[in-house]
Amino acid sequence: MKLPSKIKLLGREYKVIKARLQDGVMGQTEQEGRVVALSETLEGHQAFETFLHELVHVAMLETGVDNVLESNQKEAVCDCVALLFSDIVTLKGE
Ligand SMILES: [Zn+2]
Repeated sequence: MKLPSKIKLLGREYKVIKARLQDGVMGQTEQEGRVVALSETLEGHQAFETFLHELVHVAMLETGVDNVLESNQKEAVCDCVALLFSDIVTLKGE
């Protein structure tokens, strides 16, 4: 699945880019610059799931949920919702 180069969520447009990220970091979302960066090393399904994970970060940032959760809680929610939507998309394609 080809990922979009930009996406509008909750009324805000974010650029989606591939970038060289710190070792072990697959994705990164920056609210100020409105950028979702995915590691240039990611491909296929892993890139898609990371993209979904980062979109959940966008949703949490834009709704303020980001302010009330600890870092490990944010990552758990992002993983959970990303896996859920990944499965839904996969099921639709079957
Ligand atoms: Zn994350």
